[in-house]
Amino acid sequence: MKKSAAEILAGLRDHVDFLEEAGAGFVLAKARKDVPADAGTQSGPKTSKAPSPPRAAAPSSGAAAGNLPQEPDNRTPTEIESQVRACRLCRLHKLRTNAVPGEGDWSAELMFIGEGPGRDEDLQGRPFVGRAGQLLRKIIAAMKFREDEVYITNVVKCRPPENRVPCRDEVEACWPYLARQIELIRPKVIVTLGKTPTEYFVPGRAAMGDLRGKFGDYKGIPIMPTFHPSYLIRNEGNRKIRRMVWDDMQKVMALLGKK
Ligand code: URA
Ligand code: SF4
Repeated sequence: MKKSAAEILAGLRDHVDFLEEAGAGFVLAKARKDVPADAGTQSGPKTSKAPSPPRAAAPSSGAAAGNLPQEPDNRTPTEIESQVRACRLCRLHKLRTNAVPGEGDWSAELMFIGEGPGRDEDLQGRPFVGRAGQLLRKIIAAMKFREDEVYITNVVKCRPPENRVPCRDEVEACWPYLARQIELIRPKVIVTLGKTPTEYFVPGRAAMGDLRGKFGDYKGIPIMPTFHPSYLIRNEGNRKIRRMVWDDMQKVMALLGKK
């Protein structure tokens, strides 16, 4: 079907916004009618040419890392994926259609961690494929990365009912998968999207508005908290928020030597 003039104009407006925002920034995905509410170990240092970021007072681990297996965890990427897909370690397995292990490059420099699968992700078994996901993927492109060069996952791999925030015991049950993913990937930087994942990597009671834009540390890996893309969507048109996310991502790009 042909696009209406209004649709073309809206697309253009988005495009111009995007150029203004970031030079080469990102743009909000066009609203869809069927939008689901979005859920609202390092084994050796990778050498990095980029300067080290300031380190937050380093907790030796994320808050939930006590749940890590005691013995050396030797699971391969394929094992992690198949274990996640068959996992029944917490109640979230009961309502899922598909578990969502994550996707991307297992040697990525850059890793994104979200809250948990939403409806689209549950149906497809892939992370960040709904509307928030489309926006995240635009942000990734604006950062001059291809989607298959980064790794994208969540703190829980199964969709919480009605996209509620995952409970602490669910995150803890799921944590060894994420910990092993991080250990295998050894990213140079991790971006935590929104309050839920940020809380587990940057312990404390600070609000997202205070945490974002400042590097934290998880087992020697810089953590950059930023707003969740679904928060950007809920505040569509709020350029300040978009600008803040873009500022945060520019810090990440600088750390990775991208301009
Ligand atoms: N929101 C998330 O936090 N994760 C997804 O995978 C999709 C939406
Ligand atoms: Fe297993 Fe994680 Fe799914 Fe819970 S959320 S069933 S721990 S994969």
